[in-house]
Amino acid sequence: MAELLTIGAFARLAELTPKALRLYDELGLLRPAHVDPASGYRYYEPVQLERARLVARLRLLGMPLARITSVCTLPPAAAADEVAAYWAQVEHDTESRRRLARLLADDFKGKEPATMNTTVFGLSGAAASDSGLVRATNQDTAYAGPGLLAVADGYGPAGARAGTLAVEALKGLTGPPERSAGVALEAANRGIAGLGESGTTLTALVWSGTELVLAHVGDSRAYLLRGGELLRLTTDHSHVRTLVDEGRLTEEEAAAHPQRALLTRALDGREGSSADVSARQARPGDRYLLCSDGVSAVLPEAEIRRVLVAAEDPDAAVRELVALARRAGGPDNVAVAVGDVVQRPRKAD
Ligand code: MN
Repeated sequence: MAELLTIGAFARLAELTPKALRLYDELGLLRPAHVDPASGYRYYEPVQLERARLVARLRLLGMPLARITSVCTLPPAAAADEVAAYWAQVEHDTESRRRLARLLADDFKGKEPATMNTTVFGLSGAAASDSGLVRATNQDTAYAGPGLLAVADGYGPAGARAGTLAVEALKGLTGPPERSAGVALEAANRGIAGLGESGTTLTALVWSGTELVLAHVGDSRAYLLRGGELLRLTTDHSHVRTLVDEGRLTEEEAAAHPQRALLTRALDGREGSSADVSARQARPGDRYLLCSDGVSAVLPEAEIRRVLVAAEDPDAAVRELVALARRAGGPDNVAVAVGDVVQRPRKAD
């Protein structure tokens, strides 16, 4: 038998720590040649250095220990394939994370004062609402017009009227949209108070010249497609969302929960009911989607993303999403609005 090395000497030669060597032993990655039965000390053969260095280098690559175990047992050609496959996966994941990081950074920049942004832009949009295949009436509203993209999902005996009131309130606003949208929705909420036990969700984009704001209350949603990535911009004001945030439900359990439609906030006529209003950075090429839960509850986000990426224009995206919601059974009313941010020429005056 060759001269055995103590764990300390072996660790120095392999450029590893004794602690790492003990871990590799426990995981079966690198067993010592001999363990002293009395002291428990580990001893290694010099020939084991090659394996130790390989493990160290794969660790440096960030490869998980379980995967290293498999690479170490493979014949050279298969091991080469496995390392290449691992790295391709890392690059793919990094690319996704890079895009997400850029989106999030842009999102923070969007919270800068709007005076920073001097580009004149608009949203070119389309919208549609559909009763679905199960409900006798349609209480959803969708709108795309000058300065406004909106969806509302009404409930209660005058739910449709509540939704319409909320959307109408946002048409033709004057003044800075962040302030005027909030004021208009407070007025709409007072109007809804006269409709009995009725209320509505509202998710809307309001813009004027150089400012874009998102108004949101309830469980309708806003999504942004930028650079091929889909980002959800809103948080559902719903009972199940609260339970998920508290760690009491998983996302999957929430999606199937019998009380998933129970809202914690809506424009319901009660004093103090209001929408969250936040400024956004408008960037040409961005595509926004607003939709009621008749879409988001039946279509996976991957499917929504696919449609938004593929659709030639907002109108095509809206038609496709309504059709897919119906094909998925159309259990609820559907409201969809899609808008593309486009640069507008500055007026001469
Ligand atoms: Mn609904």
